[in-house]
This record gives sequence, C-alpha cells and structure tokens, in this order.
Amino acid sequence: MRTLPAVGTAFAVGGQLFLDDSPARAQGAAAPAAGHFHPKGKAPSKYTLDVLSQARGTLPFSDARDFEEQQKGLIAPMQDLRIMADAGHVAWDMERFQFLDKQDEFDSIHPSLLRQSKLNNNYGLYEVIAGIYQVRGFDLSDITFIRGKTGWIVFDPLVSKEVVRAAWKTFQQHVGAGLPVSAVIFSHTHGDHWGGVRGIADEADVRSGKIPVIAPIDFMQFTVSENVYAGNAMNRRLFFQYGLLLPASPYGYVGQGLGQAVSAGATGLIAPTRYVEQPIEEFEVDGVRMIFQNTPNTEAPREMNTYIPDMKALWMAENVIASLHNIYTLRGAPVRDPLNWSKYINESLYRFGQEAEVLFASHHWPRWGNARIQEILRAQRDLYAHMNNQVLHLANQGVTINEIHNVYQVPKSLQAHWHCRGYHGSPQHNSRGVVQRYLGFWDCNPTTLIPLSPHDSAPLYVEMMGGSEKILARGQQLYDEGKYLLASEIVNKLVQAEPQNQPAKELLADIFEQIGYQQENPGLRNSFLAGAYELRSGIPQGTTASSSSPDVIRAMSTELFLNFLGIRMDSRKADGLKFTINLITPDNGERFIIELENATLTNIKGFLAAKPDLTLKINRSDLELTMIGARTLEAQIADGTAKIEGDPSILKSLAAAMVEFDPRFEIMPGTKTSRVAATENPYEATDMRQPVAE
Ligand SMILES: [Zn+2]
Repeated sequence: MRTLPAVGTAFAVGGQLFLDDSPARAQGAAAPAAGHFHPKGKAPSKYTLDVLSQARGTLPFSDARDFEEQQKGLIAPMQDLRIMADAGHVAWDMERFQFLDKQDEFDSIHPSLLRQSKLNNNYGLYEVIAGIYQVRGFDLSDITFIRGKTGWIVFDPLVSKEVVRAAWKTFQQHVGAGLPVSAVIFSHTHGDHWGGVRGIADEADVRSGKIPVIAPIDFMQFTVSENVYAGNAMNRRLFFQYGLLLPASPYGYVGQGLGQAVSAGATGLIAPTRYVEQPIEEFEVDGVRMIFQNTPNTEAPREMNTYIPDMKALWMAENVIASLHNIYTLRGAPVRDPLNWSKYINESLYRFGQEAEVLFASHHWPRWGNARIQEILRAQRDLYAHMNNQVLHLANQGVTINEIHNVYQVPKSLQAHWHCRGYHGSPQHNSRGVVQRYLGFWDCNPTTLIPLSPHDSAPLYVEMMGGSEKILARGQQLYDEGKYLLASEIVNKLVQAEPQNQPAKELLADIFEQIGYQQENPGLRNSFLAGAYELRSGIPQGTTASSSSPDVIRAMSTELFLNFLGIRMDSRKADGLKFTINLITPDNGERFIIELENATLTNIKGFLAAKPDLTLKINRSDLELTMIGARTLEAQIADGTAKIEGDPSILKSLAAAMVEFDPRFEIMPGTKTSRVAATENPYEATDMRQPVAE
C-alpha cells in the first residue's frame, strides 16, 4: 500500500520533482508571465483583475479579529522553516509560503484567499489559555496539548510522526516541563488527526495502559473504510483539489485553506484503547474532567467534540473551523449531511456554548470570550442549515444540479463572517453536493440521462460549429472578452474531439488559468490551475514514491481487503472462471467463503463451503505481510507459512485477473505521456491508498 505519494513529495519540493521529466521543458516558451513557474503561464487578464478588485471592495476587511486571535498567545515562532523526514526528504516546508507575507496584494490571488493563506502562515507554539497549548502551522492540522494531572493530554497528532516530534520538541523547550504524554485523543477518523501518533506515543505504552488513546465509537472501522474502495480515483483527483503538481507561487499553489499543506513524513496508526460510545459521555482523562459529544456523520463519519468544564474550554474538533467546510469533497467522497452537522453545532451551542470562554479546534486558531464563541457557533450552525434548506427549497422548485451553483447564495449576513466563507467547501460545489445527496446526478432532462461519452458527442459539435479553426477563433475571442466559462464550453468540445490538438489544449489551459485566478476557494483554484498544468505539460508519469503504512493495512479487516480484491479484479479477465475458496485465518478465528462466478468475486464471512475447490489456511498476521507487499502469497505457500488443499492453479488465475490501478490516469484528453509498470505482487493491497487528509 502506498500513501499519498504525491502530496508529500510534490509539496515538499514545490513541484520540481514532477517538472524535471515534464515535456514542458522541451517545448518552446510562449511569452510567459514574468515570474510564472510555467513557460506558458499567463498573467491575470484585465477581466480577472476586475473580478479580484471588485471582490476586494465587498469583503469585510474592517473585521480584523482573526488576525488578533491568530497571533494571541504566541510563545515561540518555529525557527526552522523546514522539517526533515527520517527517510531523508523534506517533510514540511514553510519556506515556500514566505512570499505570501511579502506583499499586501497579488493580482493573481483572490484577496479573500490570500488573507486566509496569510493567516495560515502562523507557525509556532501558542498558549490558548493557561494549561492549553497549540502548535500551529506544522501540518495541515493543529496539535493541542492540555495539562493533565501527571502529564500532557494530546489532541489530534497531525499527519506524520516527524512533524509531531518537532512540535513536541518545541513544546517541551518552552512549556512542557519535561512531563510525559499522559493520553492521546483522536477527534475523528481523518488522517490529519492521527497519522503522526507514533511521533508522540510508544505503542508499548499504549498497550500497557500507560497512555490511553481515546476516540469516538467505530473509529477504526471508519478510519480505514471511508475511502478505500475508490482510493485510487480519489488520489488522482487530489492532483486537482490539492494542486499536487503546482509549485507554491502567486500563479500556482497558495495554500489549502484548512492549512498550508499536508506534511510528508511517516504516517502510522495506533488503535484506540477507549471508545466514547454514548451520544454524551463524561469521564476524567488524566484528572481532567471532559464531556465528549459524539457527532457522527458530520465532517467525518465518526467525530466528537469535547468540553472541558473546569476550563470553560470547548473543543469543536473539525466541526467548526475558520471556513465553510466541504459538504461535497472535490477529490470525491460520499456527500455529507449538512442538516445533521448544523444540528450538532446547535447542540454544542446550547450544551456548552452558553458558558464556554474559549473555543478551539483542530485547524486554524482559537476564539476567546463567550459573545465571540456564540457568534461563531450561531453563524456556523446557520451556514450548514441554510445550505441544506435553501438548496432543497430551490430544488423543490425545479432548480437542478446543473444550475444550483448559479442560483444558490449564502445569505449576506453570513457572507460578512470571514469564517463562513469558502476556504475548503465553496458555496458552488457544496450546493451541487446537497442536490447530489438528495436527488443524485440526474437533472431529470432525458437528454442527460444516458448521454454519449464526451469524446463520442464532441466530434459532431466540432463539425456543426464549422471545424477547429472556427472554434479556436471564437474561443480566443471569448477569451479576449473575458468570457471564460463560455470559452471553456466550446474549446473543451474541441479538445474532447481532438485530444492531440495542441493549440486547442493551450487555449483551454489559458482559459482555465484565468478562471483559477478568480477563485476564492483553494480547491476550485487548484482544480482549474491543475487542469491548465496538465493540458500544457501532460501528466508526469513514472512510479509514485511508495511509503508503506503497515499500521493502516493492519487496521483493515480481512473482509474489507477481500471486498477490495473484487474491485481490483478486472471482471473482463475473469469471464468463464468459476471456483470456490475457503479462507481460514486460524490466529483470529475468521473464515470466509470466496467465490468467483459470473465474473464477480464475492465473499461471505463466517461460512465455509462443504466442497471448496481450494482451502487456504494462513494466519491473519501472515496475510498482512502479503497485503503490505512484504511477501507474496506464493512465497508464503512455498515455505509452508500458508497451507493449501485443493487446486492451487485457482490462485494463479485469480491473480492474473488483478489489475494495478494507474495512479496517473488521464483526466483531460491528450495529457497522458507514458505508461506505468505492472505489479509483481497481485495480492498486495496496492491502490487501497486513501487520501490522508480532509
Ligand atoms: Zn482535518
């Protein structure tokens, strides 16, 4: 299994890794914008400048409280702008975001997004209140330390262990007083809230009970299952949402809204030892009274807020941050439930928010004072409820998924709150997500019900529009008039029809780039700029850096693994095959029937077939070695670690039907440059990678 290869390395080297073998290098430069990282990059047009300048005039810049709150309590800025990974590469690099603070404005960055990115440039150790500290800016998320009776209770240990270690070191230098970690709390299932746990807790100490690890009920199940089945597609889509190819630059990547980036060190997972099971549960953690509020199916499938009554401190996990969050995530994920989310915020407001004096969370910075806290909770509650209600109100009047983003608007009173603006979710893609959640993809126009694939319908459009020359001329004209969305409609048709038409791809790239510059939301910006990048340079190929995350594989149930094999199998290669396997894993007492029939691989847990074609006996702990890619199943059978009875050729035919997913599959036509190598270990849990962050 590989983790998000590209996040790490691409971010760490500012895109250079990919630029090195990019065809862009070989092509002639075409009047680039000065300072642009790409030889074909363009400066913002006068229309884009107008859009940004108009936005500047309507944004609530008179409210500067975020800047005060973000700086409040600074104990020590982090001096090292880079944190190295144990593997030798750069795990975290703040150097590349320093340009953001060097100018008040950039003509290629939306002023609201620039403001958020400047706020996220905070980098160091902060006091929240006496006894609560945060290290911020070491990763996409924040790590929090709370003083317990015997040591420090850690909330949400970031993405990777190296940055967690650096955070702990900084913390110990200034306030930790040499006291140990006494407990770890994972607020939710996303990888930016637990992946660095091994940087701060030893597994033996967790197993012995010395360091309890606390998480919401069903944490393990949802941590590994949320994104596995479509993991390869999600990772590929991250190139768009998170702009993995884009160098940090005023013309490229300027941060991710939630934080500047995702760290690229080693990720791991230690299973929790205590679960919060009840909707509301109160108990002491290292002598500190905590009230846990489970909030399932909100920002994550399993998540919990925590109130510390003796400190009047309210931890809102990732349910309330300094942004509108994603209802729909551009990399792809099941659409979230905004009404449910809003109701849990409302519950926090009435249970804890009436007396809380500080509100803090796993991203961004704290807010102090009860009036401010209530202001935030009320606005955030209304933000998600409004999106749910008004989108459905409009849908009930016939507004479709293809129109809603042009119709739906966040109320003006909420737009005036910086924390309600779209730095992760955007009103546009979220409103479409709400329609998707309730009504699905179809707008109910039969034309769009079983449409031709774009490359099949596009040639007719091109023909009817009079051919590529005419489309290019009209597209250029629309571009010159600043009508970028209209221009993209017709030039995209041409690119779909003629994937090798380089002038068409380059015009579409120029169009995407201007749309990207105009976006307030980093996911939208990155998606357009990444589209432009791939159209100009092609998709960089080659193998992706592989870093095994055995912890996460171990956390996968055998059933999940078998389900995923059913997805990895190319059923076209399994046509005509028919067999039954009994799988027995003696060390954990599990048994499965695995059947291949009708070109479909199924499994059922807890059963054994009376007359299997093959019985495979292997300890789950040994099977994990195969899943991790450390040992092939063949080798385990050869040395007797795995025992088989029956027809061993079955495993061979099944293996032959397994496909390794291409982590760089083509999205924009004509951008694929070469192929990747095939797999050697067909039963490795490769491509079960899931995006680490949310
Ligand atoms: Zn997060």
